[in-house]
Amino acid sequence: MGRANAAYYAARDPFADFTTAPEICQAFGEVLGLWAAIVWQSMGSPSPVILTEAGPGRGTLMQDALRAISSAMPAFRAALSVHLVETSRRLREAQRNRVPDAIWHDSIDTLPAGPAILLANEFFDALPIRQFVRTDSGWNERFVQDGTFIEQPADIDIALAAQPGEIAEVNGPARAIVAQLAARAQTACLFVDYGPEHSAPGDSLQALRNGTQADPLTDPGSADLTAHVDFEALAHVARAAGAAAYGPVPQGIFLAQMGLPARIDRLARNAPPAQVMRLIAGSRRLMEPHAMGRLFKVLAICNGVSSPPPGFDPV
Ligand code: SAH
Repeated sequence: MGRANAAYYAARDPFADFTTAPEICQAFGEVLGLWAAIVWQSMGSPSPVILTEAGPGRGTLMQDALRAISSAMPAFRAALSVHLVETSRRLREAQRNRVPDAIWHDSIDTLPAGPAILLANEFFDALPIRQFVRTDSGWNERFVQDGTFIEQPADIDIALAAQPGEIAEVNGPARAIVAQLAARAQTACLFVDYGPEHSAPGDSLQALRNGTQADPLTDPGSADLTAHVDFEALAHVARAAGAAAYGPVPQGIFLAQMGLPARIDRLARNAPPAQVMRLIAGSRRLMEPHAMGRLFKVLAICNGVSSPPPGFDPV
């Protein structure tokens, strides 16, 4: 599953197959930039600091974030350097057009040490998962061979209560990335992705081709493969590595607490009517529970940050 998705991102324009929050509304990236600015202050305004994005797609989120940071907190803009973690050469070109002064990385391994703030939207869901099937006696791992599933006894522990026949999913790369980031001093990360609030059994592997659902097993590399993110498992990994974890909270609640509606008001005041309609429709899509507001969640992981990050207050 992993190799098929790497081939997909390397060769295709994924945005023909799905639309993401920063592409829907500029206020999404702006609000994430303001989150980073507030957290930077809670770190004691370190300089220099790195502002990183993992899986930046077209570079839209970072472009919007930097614009908001420049006007709201110029001292943070002056202190930061931008680092983008991106494997797709094609998408790096698109990112270069929007964020020309970035430094690119193939993985988080090469990020410089020192104070860091990392943003990621729909990054973990693009990483490969392993699927396990509960049996009467334990767990089997499910593999794809010649277009069908085969099973072999699991070689890792699965800590999930499930009935025989139910599926557990493990995103190994996501867990490793969280463990590594959580162990860094003076680091704050914000992950936005879709998935349930609590770990639960279920087969969430999906293929999207040209915006519609496809069979994950046919024509590997031609469709985007995604799976729900297990936020509870990632928060557990972060705490075990010594960091604080906040959330997951629904995206709609997070954006409301971060003042997205007020930001839309301000943008709409100076915009032509067609743009006003787009801003309102876009912000509703991001926030409303039946659209992206509830399925999408936000998780923060902080180490060496003096106060809890904004957006996670109990409601
Ligand atoms: N965050 C963007 C794009 C989401 S799509 C947005 O919200 O629009 C997933 C992104 O992660 C793409 O940029 C893809 O090329 C990148 N990606 C996928 N696997 C990756 C990996 N292993 N390491 C780094 N980037 C990866």
